[in-house]
Amino acid sequence: MCIFCKIAANEFGTQFLFENENVLAFRDLDPQAPTHILIIPRKHFENVDELTNSEPALVGELFAVARSLAISEGLPAHRTVFNTGAGAGQSVFHAHLHLLGGRSFAWPPG
Ligand code: 5GP
Ligand code: ZN
Repeated sequence: MCIFCKIAANEFGTQFLFENENVLAFRDLDPQAPTHILIIPRKHFENVDELTNSEPALVGELFAVARSLAISEGLPAHRTVFNTGAGAGQSVFHAHLHLLGGRSFAWPPG
């Protein structure tokens, strides 16, 4: 079972900022900004491409949760990111949307 599937099964007692039958949100272990939240489907998909192919509506659900967390965390400016593939910085191969905020961000990204 992958690490995010284990988190979804609540093996580590992770505190969820949001949960419903499809989606979970929790804070990143190694935050890259003052607020860094991961929003994931409960079900395992390797990356957002697989998720989009199988359950496109769920991509929208992840963004709806990001939107509501950006409001509750007080982040009018924020960044949402899917890294897809090791070459793009993906290190956990269970699709996840990063929500980052609380500082300014450079463009283009590194
Ligand atoms: P990726 O590099 O795949 O886009 O993002 C994976 C993210 O998962 C990283 O930001 C990393 O810090 C985070 N992460 C990895 N393992 C764990 C964990 O066990 N718990 C939490 N909360 N975050 C994790
Ligand atoms: Zn998984």
